[in-house]
Amino acid sequence: MMDGTRTPADAPVLILLGPPGAGKGTQARMLVERFGYIQLSTGDMLRAAVAAGTPAGLEAKAVMEAGGLVSDRTVLTVLGDRLAQPDCAGGLIFDGFPRTVAQAEALDALLAARGREVDAAISLEVDDARMVVRISGRFTCAACGEGYHDDFKPTAKPGTCDACGGTEMKRRADDTPKTVMARLDAYHRQTGPLIDFYDRRGVLKRVDAMGDIDVIGAALAKVAGPIPA
Ligand code: ADP
Ligand code: ADP
Ligand code: ZN
Repeated sequence: MMDGTRTPADAPVLILLGPPGAGKGTQARMLVERFGYIQLSTGDMLRAAVAAGTPAGLEAKAVMEAGGLVSDRTVLTVLGDRLAQPDCAGGLIFDGFPRTVAQAEALDALLAARGREVDAAISLEVDDARMVVRISGRFTCAACGEGYHDDFKPTAKPGTCDACGGTEMKRRADDTPKTVMARLDAYHRQTGPLIDFYDRRGVLKRVDAMGDIDVIGAALAKVAGPIPA
C-alpha cells in the first residue's frame, strides 16, 4: 500500500482547532471510529509523560497544572517521537496541536519531510461560557480513555464505562475553575492566531460546536472524510 515516499490519496492530515472543552477529543474519537484515522493528542501524550516521570513530563507538569502552554520544544519532541511510529503513515487527526504559530510552522516541516501537508484545519466554534460548563463536568474512563460528561454524556450505568465496562473514572487535575480561565486566556492569545494562519492558506473549515455531540459529528464527517482520489 505504502511505497515509503507518498501517502495514500485518501489519507488526510486534519487538525482540530478549538478552545479547551470544545469537543476536540470527543469528535476526534468519532472520526477515528468512522474513518480509521490515528488520533494525535499532545495533551494525552504530555499527561502520559507526566505519569511516567520522563524529562518532558517533569517539565510539563507544573505548566499544565497552571493552565499555561508547555514549551514548543518539549511538545515537538514528544510529538516527533510519536509521528515517527509506522502507524502514522495513514490518516492523521491532530487534537490540541498545533497551539502556537511556531508549532504550526514546525508541523509543516515535519509533514513536508514525509511528503505530506495539512489538508484541513477544522475550527470547532463554541463560546467561552459553554466551554466552562463542558470542562467542569468532564470525566474519562481510566481503562480505555472514553470521554464522558456529568450532564451531557453520562455513562448508561453509573460508574461503569459504556465502551469497555471499566469502573475507574478519572478527572483531570487541570479541569478546575481557576485553571480553566488561564487555559482560555492561553487559547485566545496564543492559539487564536492559527485560525487566520490556516484561513490564509485556504484550508480552514469552521464548524458550529455549540450543539449536540451527534449533530456536530455529522457536520464534521462532511468536512473530514477521506480525500477523494
Ligand atoms: P476538548 O478535547 O476540546 O478539551 P472534550 O472532547 O474533552 O473537549 O469535551 C469536553 C467535555 O464536554 C467532555 O466531558 C465531553 O463529554 C463534553 N462534550 C463534548 N462535546 C459536547 C457537546 N457537543 N455537547 C455537550 N457536551 C459535549
Ligand atoms: P484541552 O483542549 O482540554 O485544553 P489538552 O489535553 O489538549 O486539553 O491540553 C492540556 C494541557 O496540556 C494544556 O493546557 C497545555 O498545558 C498542555 N498542552 C497540550 N497540548 C499542547 C501543545 N500543543 N502546546 C503546548 N501545550 C500543550
Ligand atoms: Zn472504558
